[in-house]
Amino acid sequence: MSNELLQFGFFVVAVSAGWLAGYCYRPRFEKKDTDTSSSYYKGLNYLLSEQPDAAVMTVINDLPVNLETLPTHLALGNLLRSKGEVDGAIRVHQNLLSRPSLPREKLHQVHLELARDYISAGVLDRAERLLKDVVDESEVFRADALEHLQHIYQTEREWDHAIAVALRRLPPRSWLKKAPVAGPADRRVERALSHFYCEKAQLLLAEHNYKEAIVALQSARQFDRDNVRAYMLSANIALKQHKPELALDLLHTAIDRQAAFSSEMLPLFREAFARFGGRDAYLDALLGIAKNTESSAFIIEAADLMAAKDGSELTLQYLLDAARQRPTLGLLTKVLEQPTAGSGQTLELVQEVLLKLRAERPAYRCRQCGFSGQKLHWLCPSCEQWGTITPIRGTQGD
Ligand SMILES: [Zn+2]
Repeated sequence: MSNELLQFGFFVVAVSAGWLAGYCYRPRFEKKDTDTSSSYYKGLNYLLSEQPDAAVMTVINDLPVNLETLPTHLALGNLLRSKGEVDGAIRVHQNLLSRPSLPREKLHQVHLELARDYISAGVLDRAERLLKDVVDESEVFRADALEHLQHIYQTEREWDHAIAVALRRLPPRSWLKKAPVAGPADRRVERALSHFYCEKAQLLLAEHNYKEAIVALQSARQFDRDNVRAYMLSANIALKQHKPELALDLLHTAIDRQAAFSSEMLPLFREAFARFGGRDAYLDALLGIAKNTESSAFIIEAADLMAAKDGSELTLQYLLDAARQRPTLGLLTKVLEQPTAGSGQTLELVQEVLLKLRAERPAYRCRQCGFSGQKLHWLCPSCEQWGTITPIRGTQGD
C-alpha cells in the first residue's frame, strides 16, 4: 500500500514538474492552454482516488497528443501497467497510436510499451508481432525489442526462434577480425543461447535424432565453454551411440571446467565404465577425480568399490582421511556405516541426526539470486537466468 502511494507520489511530482517546465519555457507567443492543464489534474485526481477507468477516459478524451504531452501519456500508461491495470494501459497506448501526429521514432516507443502491456496480459502473439515491427524499423529500440522477443520465445519454449533472436543480440562475428571481448551483457546472452541449444538438443534426443542433437550441442559448447549441461548431454549421446571413450573424454573436460558439478556427472561416469575399462579402471578414475575435486559423491563411490577389493580396514582409513579433510555430512554418514567404525547407541544417534540433517538441506543454489531447492533447474525459476544454479558445496553439500 505504502509502495503504491509512493509510486503515485513520484508520478504526481514527475507530471507537475513536467507541466511546470513546459509552462515556464514555452514560447511567449503561445497562449496558455487552460483545457490541457485542467485535464491533467482531473486525470490525476481520478488516479489518486483509485478510479483508474475514469483517469484513462479523461486522459484519452481531454489530453491532446503531441510531443509535449507524450511523456505524460506514457507515464500514465506505465503506471497503470505497474499497478496491474493492464487493460487501462493498453487503452492509453492504443490511443497514442491512433493519432497520426507523432513522429516515427516516438511511435516505435509506443509500440514497445504496448508490447510490454501485452506481455503483462499474457497475450504473447500480439506482443510478438509488435516487437518484430520495432526490430525491423527502429534502430533506437531494436535492442529492447529483441530482449523482449527472446523472453517470449523462451516462455513459449520455441527454441529455434529464441536462438535466432539471441544470435541477433550478439555482436556480429567476423572470420577476418578477432572476436571482440564479450561484456557481462553479451556473456548473459551467450549463456542463454548455449542453454537454448541444449533445450533443442534434448527435444532432438527424445526423437532419437542424434545427428542434429550433436550439431546443436557443438553450438551450445561453442557459446559457453563452461556449460556443463552441454557436455553431459553430449556424453549421454555418446553412450547411446556405444562410444564410452568419447563420453569419458567429454565428462573429464566438463569436470575440469566445473568441479562443482562432479556429483551430477557421477552416474554418467558409472555408466561409461560399466561398458568400458572394467572395475579396476573405474576405481582408479574415481580415486583420481576424488583427489582433484574433493567431491564427496566420488569419494563415497570409490569407498564402495574399495571395500569389495581391499577390505574394510583400508576403506575406513580412506574415508576417515577424506572426512578429516572435508567433513561433509555425506562422508560422516559413510564413515559411520562402515562395519569397523564401531557401534553403540551414541553412534546410532549421531547417524540418525546426520541423516535427518542431510534430508533437510537444499542441494542447489542460484549464484545470481540465492534461490535454493532440492532439484537442479537449468533456468532459475526465481531470477530467470540460465545456468546460474549450481550444486551446493560445503559441509552440507557435495
Ligand atoms: Zn536465480
